[in-house]
Amino acid sequence: MLIDTHAHLDAERFAPDRDEVVARARAAGVQTIITCGTDLVSSRATTALCERYQDVYAAVGVHPHAASSLFSGQAISQETLDELIALASQSGAAAIGEIGLDYHYDLSPREAQRDALSAQLQLAVELDVPVVLHCREADDDLMAIVGNAPRSLRGVLHCFMGGDTLARWALDRGFYLGIAGPITFKRMNGLADVARLAPLNRLLVETDCPYLAPQPLRGRRNEPAYVVYVAERLAQIRALPLDALAAATSANARELFGVG
Ligand SMILES: [Zn+2]
Repeated sequence: MLIDTHAHLDAERFAPDRDEVVARARAAGVQTIITCGTDLVSSRATTALCERYQDVYAAVGVHPHAASSLFSGQAISQETLDELIALASQSGAAAIGEIGLDYHYDLSPREAQRDALSAQLQLAVELDVPVVLHCREADDDLMAIVGNAPRSLRGVLHCFMGGDTLARWALDRGFYLGIAGPITFKRMNGLADVARLAPLNRLLVETDCPYLAPQPLRGRRNEPAYVVYVAERLAQIRALPLDALAAATSANARELFGVG
């Protein structure tokens, strides 16, 4: 049994066959899926999906790409934060996410990204729920901002691609590392080293679907069933039977997100 800890089931690309996508996940042994919102509209959609599908849980939040949408004028919109709080309090909501910093695409101004991250970290602390963090080319700022949050904050660095420094910092803080499709790609030795050396009780598996399909499906639409390829590669790296790897990462996901 596997848990896909990071999907975007609300994505338009799943509109034609979402029921089949979820059914294929189940058939592949992926019983539980955590689907992540990226803005207010998609966070509403993710909580609706929890009601539609059993064992689908939601993270609600505003992605750094959409950070500007959290503002009204120069300030963070309290109305938007209030709606996030309401969504995060619904049954099936398991986390605040995905939130973070993305200095690669810079789709929102960096200042807005940092403020949106801080505000949503605060929300997670107040609600006592974990966070799903996105970090791209912003390691120093992420460590500084998340480092300022109370120690009670817990969460995952999703689709971990960072180097040693970020990994060590995250593990020191008790964060989990989400391992996604790139672990199956060639020339990912740095990532493989992190995945080999991290404590097993700090690793999660995920797809980030519909993006980042693993080998041998790279380039196609990704879906939760394909988390099996990620788990197989991670099992190989850890020199563990797939069953043991699946049991360990699923137990970690249950521990972090409190899901069934
Ligand atoms: Zn994502």
